[in-house]
Amino acid sequence: MVLDLTLAEAAGQLGAGATSSTELTRVALQRVEALNGRLNAFLRVDAAGALEAAAQSDARRGRGEARGPLDGVPLGIKDNLLTGGLETTAGSRILQGFVPPVDATAVRKLREAGAVLLGKLNLDEFAMGSSNESSAYGPARNPWDTTRTPGGSSGGSAAAVAARLCFGALGSDTGGSIRQPAALTGTVGLKPTWGRVSRFGLVAYASSLDQVGPMARTVTDCALLLQALAGPDAQDATAADLAVPDYTAALERGAAGLRVGVPAEYFGPGMDPEVEAAVRGALRAYEQLGATLVEVSLPHTKYALATYYLLATAEASSNLARFDGVRFGHRARDVKGLRELYARSRSEGFGPEVKRRIMLGTFALSAGHYDAYYLKAQKVRTLIRRDFEAAFRQVDVVLSPTSPVPAFPLGQQTDPLQSYLLDVFTLPCNLAGLPGLSLPCGFTRARLPVGMQLVGRWWDEAGLLAAARAYERAHDFSRAAPPLEA
Ligand code: GLN
Repeated sequence: MVLDLTLAEAAGQLGAGATSSTELTRVALQRVEALNGRLNAFLRVDAAGALEAAAQSDARRGRGEARGPLDGVPLGIKDNLLTGGLETTAGSRILQGFVPPVDATAVRKLREAGAVLLGKLNLDEFAMGSSNESSAYGPARNPWDTTRTPGGSSGGSAAAVAARLCFGALGSDTGGSIRQPAALTGTVGLKPTWGRVSRFGLVAYASSLDQVGPMARTVTDCALLLQALAGPDAQDATAADLAVPDYTAALERGAAGLRVGVPAEYFGPGMDPEVEAAVRGALRAYEQLGATLVEVSLPHTKYALATYYLLATAEASSNLARFDGVRFGHRARDVKGLRELYARSRSEGFGPEVKRRIMLGTFALSAGHYDAYYLKAQKVRTLIRRDFEAAFRQVDVVLSPTSPVPAFPLGQQTDPLQSYLLDVFTLPCNLAGLPGLSLPCGFTRARLPVGMQLVGRWWDEAGLLAAARAYERAHDFSRAAPPLEA
């Protein structure tokens, strides 16, 4: 099947004239049609727009004007990134029917690179969650076992990529939402350094933590996508004005001499033994590839979860104030006055997890509690960042599990605190602003994928990708396909 090709291979076949964008897009749309009922990965498919973009790509290629590796390749977009003219809900009822006037910068850049955008992918409501179960449109399902979660919040992106509905997808990551679903679906996900990719047009959750990034089946594919996404943006002053390196140039340099940090704090109790075994196997694999393992300490790790859930909810409570029933989306009917309009529109439009977080965040920011919670959390955030600064004086990357557990059954997580604990390994990286990547490193006995996380230095996505690629070249899981065919 042509959709078993990696993105890089599909680009190669397009370049060689062995296939066309129209052909790839038709096959992808057919597969979405056949499988999305089981996976609920796509919330919306733009078949007409995709076929039109494919026809344009083929025409460009015919004129000898192909734009690069993404030209003509079908991709999916997480539904918290604005797509001009195409409904964008962020997984929330409050934005049902909202059609943005513009593209997010990341989306625009993919279009400019010639990519074919198939449609919008499911997510936890406003990207708040780790299982896709807070989506107002029902959870996406894991292609490896459709009774289980694909992770979250970019669960639709991960499920679509793993199920070969598209060659790659955009996700967003505030505390792990690209990496954790990548781990749970056997795919590769990269959260770039905060500021590497523009957040313009990303529906804001927690702005100091949010980052847009690629998800795909291989490290190389993520590198190709990041190449198109990275760089400054006149519409986002926090998108750093730094040169964007060539992400594929050093990809094959191997792991000889690489110093891999192993943080003691990330290998404690509470971890699934099969996850631990797979990640320890990956550590041995790095040694065999010529890397050196170095024990590092990130002593403030134990405060990261509390710090994150104070800051993320505080920022969310502020960001989500814009959904007031006046300017965006859902508006309550038959209200008496402005106060009731706000209260009822928000009560009807937001789901329970979003409401919980708005309340937590409003509390942390309130005058009587600001110093004890918000301000304290900001100080601890600095300590967590300093832990990584110290570690990166000794090592080039830090390796850990991505998620303490493999994909769990939908409906299993009933206690919010339990689900917050799933982010324990991923969110320190967001607090520090560092780039992090998850890649497959094995399977459990029940054939559920296991992912490992590599965290790199600030702005060193190139080094991070090369470190990941070194492992992937020796242990390629990208050919393992989930058992979906009826
Ligand atoms: N699970 C985390 C949360 O709910 C992370 C979500 C994300 O990265 N968007 O906040």
